[in-house]
Amino acid sequence: MQNALVWFRNDLRIHDHEPLIKAIKVSDNVLGVYCFDPRDYVLLPTGFPKTGSFRAKFILECVAELKKNLQQLGSDLLVYVGKPEDILPQLCVDLSINEIYYHREVAPEEKHVEDVLENTLFKHNVILSGFWGHTLFHIEDLPFPVKRIPELFTDFRKSIERESKVRDCILPPLSISAIIPIPSTQLPSLQQLGLKEVTLDNRSVLDFKGGENEGLARIEDYLWTKNLLKNYKETRNEMLGANYSTKFSAWLAIGCISPRKIYEEVIRYENTQVKNDSTYWLIFELMWRDYFRFIMLKHGSIIFKPGGIQNLNIKWKNNLDLFELWRIGKTGFPLVDANMQELLLTGYMSNRGRQIVASFLTKNLGLNWQLGANWFQSQLIDYDVYSNYGNWNYAAGIGNDARGFRYFNIIKQAIQYDNNGDYVRYWLPSLANINGVSVHQPYTLKFGELLNTNFDLTRDYWQPIVDLEKSVKENERIFNSALKSK
Ligand SMILES: Cc1cc2nc3c(=O)[nH]c(=O)nc-3n(C[C@H](O)[C@H](O)[C@H](O)COP(=O)(O)OP(=O)(O)OC[C@H]3O[C@@H](n4cnc5c(N)ncnc54)[C@H](O)[C@@H]3O)c2cc1C
Repeated sequence: MQNALVWFRNDLRIHDHEPLIKAIKVSDNVLGVYCFDPRDYVLLPTGFPKTGSFRAKFILECVAELKKNLQQLGSDLLVYVGKPEDILPQLCVDLSINEIYYHREVAPEEKHVEDVLENTLFKHNVILSGFWGHTLFHIEDLPFPVKRIPELFTDFRKSIERESKVRDCILPPLSISAIIPIPSTQLPSLQQLGLKEVTLDNRSVLDFKGGENEGLARIEDYLWTKNLLKNYKETRNEMLGANYSTKFSAWLAIGCISPRKIYEEVIRYENTQVKNDSTYWLIFELMWRDYFRFIMLKHGSIIFKPGGIQNLNIKWKNNLDLFELWRIGKTGFPLVDANMQELLLTGYMSNRGRQIVASFLTKNLGLNWQLGANWFQSQLIDYDVYSNYGNWNYAAGIGNDARGFRYFNIIKQAIQYDNNGDYVRYWLPSLANINGVSVHQPYTLKFGELLNTNFDLTRDYWQPIVDLEKSVKENERIFNSALKSK
């Protein structure tokens, strides 16, 4: 009798799941297992929970739904709080397991767990079978070995577009024979994970609910019910509302939906609705996502260091007072503050917003980018180690395809991407009475302009914490001197 476990991690789904399908094919009986690893629920060096409440709540919902979906197929998901390398070997003994199937990760901490587990299981005569399965393009289909992955995204993209093909999505199983008797297990509560209860602010772009069914429903809604994909390229840089971008990231990050599933739907949309720049652009963005995972595979843990992949010795500041004002959205720059308030209260921020606040932190405040990356890691509902640290390296100018000191002009960005100030007023009610684009610079408003607005600058808003022009010049000098001394 062959008994197998499928170890679920950031792949909480039954569709397009090669380890699950392989386990069912090769074994007589199969059970799933998920571990809430206590190492994911400690505090980061900055003191924030490594997994904040928004994401933890989302993950709990995803795990609950996967459990239900596996039960409907005849199997189950065993849920534990503990280290996989402690839990899984014991389960192998208790349930006479011959093989464990799982999706391989790339980041150092996740990889370490796999290595330790493999060693322990070897002693128990249990085989650990790892599969590649998080990216749109399979690692074996890349036209170059990992060591030679191009440093420029454009080169990477052009090469895979020319020479690789996306594999077909794997169908979910129809039924699973479980190992009997199934041990009874229960999900922990947020408190048991050491976290506080949270409620999503009702201004959130979406009422994010975790789970595979929810993720698939969002694809259905965005592409088919609301037919939004046809304009994605034009709307994707906006910041207000549910529909300017897909919001797939939260479900993608924890693997409730697979990128190949999205690809399959986009192709179906192109064949039946319209094929245009927008449909291409969604695939383009999924290639960025792939790229950051492959880049971590190539460069390893240097990506987490202050100097990033470039290994630049920049004299980052660690002024925690300034950082705190950025974190809670009190910098005196409404566009930055609105975005930071959104993140604080909902766990989500648009891609445009993320680029703006990351540029402000590193290029205006000159603060250590790791502080910002840590806060995003804790707070984002869609946190993904590859996309987060890859994008922060990029924003701080220390990534693999860094192009010198580039920064966002905050006021220009505000006028371009929030051209009537609606986004800022939505998140900063104290500015609600300032009409139009003036809302982006309340500190420059003259007395006459404030008449009849009931707005009092000293009472209703914060003074800017930095001079935008001077700070950029100062930080450019610091950046360039690090470049010279390399
Ligand atoms: C500083 C910074 C930190 C970030 N941290 C994360 C993170 O932890 N997790 C995360 O998923 N994304 C991260 N991103 C990328 C991007 O902001 C989000 O993926 C996007 O905003 C999610 O919203 P969406 O699903 O509506 O995106 P859409 O515009 O609808 O894009 C579709 C999908 O493409 C992928 N994608 C889009 N842009 C990027 C990008 N720049 N890099 C990688 N993948 C991308 C995502 O999977 C996204 O769901 C970060 C960006 C920046 C600038």
